[in-house]
Amino acid sequence: MFRNFKLVPNIIFGRGCFAQLDEIIEKQRRNTDSWVVFVTDDVFREAPLEKRLPLYDNDLLLWVNVADEPKTKYVDELTLKVKAHRPTLPCAIIGIGGGSSMDLAKAISLMLTNEGSSTLYQGWDLIKNPAIYHMAVPTLSGTGAEVSRTAVLTGPEKKLGLNSDYTVFDQVVLDPELIKDVPRDQHFYTGMDCYIHCIESLQGTYLNEFSKSYGEKALDLCRQVFLDDHPDKDDKLMMASFFGGMSIAYSQVGACHALSYGLSYVLGTHHGIGCCIVFDYLEDIYPEGVKEFRTMMKKCDMELPRGLVKDLDPEQVDRMITVALGLEPLWENCLGQDWKHIMTRNKARALFLRM
Ligand code: NAD
Ligand code: ZN
Repeated sequence: MFRNFKLVPNIIFGRGCFAQLDEIIEKQRRNTDSWVVFVTDDVFREAPLEKRLPLYDNDLLLWVNVADEPKTKYVDELTLKVKAHRPTLPCAIIGIGGGSSMDLAKAISLMLTNEGSSTLYQGWDLIKNPAIYHMAVPTLSGTGAEVSRTAVLTGPEKKLGLNSDYTVFDQVVLDPELIKDVPRDQHFYTGMDCYIHCIESLQGTYLNEFSKSYGEKALDLCRQVFLDDHPDKDDKLMMASFFGGMSIAYSQVGACHALSYGLSYVLGTHHGIGCCIVFDYLEDIYPEGVKEFRTMMKKCDMELPRGLVKDLDPEQVDRMITVALGLEPLWENCLGQDWKHIMTRNKARALFLRM
């Protein structure tokens, strides 16, 4: 069976295009009661971007904190806050920030129209009703969350996304000016998330021409950003993130993402840095990619934390392994159908203990 892939229908790209936000949202404000929620990363509190938000009287500026990556509990609380703001539902949800804020916006837009806790919908195609119109304004590039059909959430039992066609944004606003002040280390970690998406997609057994076309272009753009230090690197990284997301949407990620989910579930390690920590130990699986990653790291003068796992309780390491190996499609994409004979629990343990 081939997947019938849902795309973001509207995209605006260009330096300064954020200024058109008001005009884009206006189409959703159909009557005098219409109101909009701006789900905004609180890193922008009192920053110039705050003053540029096209807020009207009834709108809600919902600051979100992403010190921890999105949890189901947080989504449920935010959804209640939105419901309490006015007697009607909002006409649009705008997510402004990195992967975490974009995922929060996606999740809220879904939970406003689907009953109960977000934990009920962690999985594939469990969402029953269409979401409220939702839009992404990335201020940090690399995750591909702006194009994907998932909103990654950590729940009490699992870290698993709300995966559905309804999750896909209705509009994406790609303004490279918004990512110019990202701190150097965060820029690298989230940028490497994109680089790793490309390597895992291009080297995977699920690869097809669709994913290859997007993956190759995204990889080329990552090289221009992280090896050539190209003067237009913000524009390039923004497009790399988008194309990298398109590539994995029709293939899959691999070993690095599977292991990083284990790390993140037990230690709360954030996605970008977690992928970097893991990738550095995968030279047997991705020899060329890891070599180039290390060159990029050197070029960007980055150091990674080490020794995170060796002093943990054996049960914690076991949980890490269980979470990582539970992501079957990622392993199958990476190592083929026979993956269980290759990536045994002992092999995974040995890898984790080096990290
Ligand atoms: P993030 O959104 O967690 O943000 C990282 C840090 O950067 C935060 O402190 C944030 O406040 C800050 N930041 C964001 N924009 C900034 C700016 N312009 N200037 C200064 N600081 C800024 O980071 P991320 O790497 O983009 O996203 C990681 C999250 O995305 C994880 O929760 C992960 O699970 C999720 N993710 C989702 C998908 C998907 O397809 N939905 C894919 C990959 C990762
Ligand atoms: Zn990723």
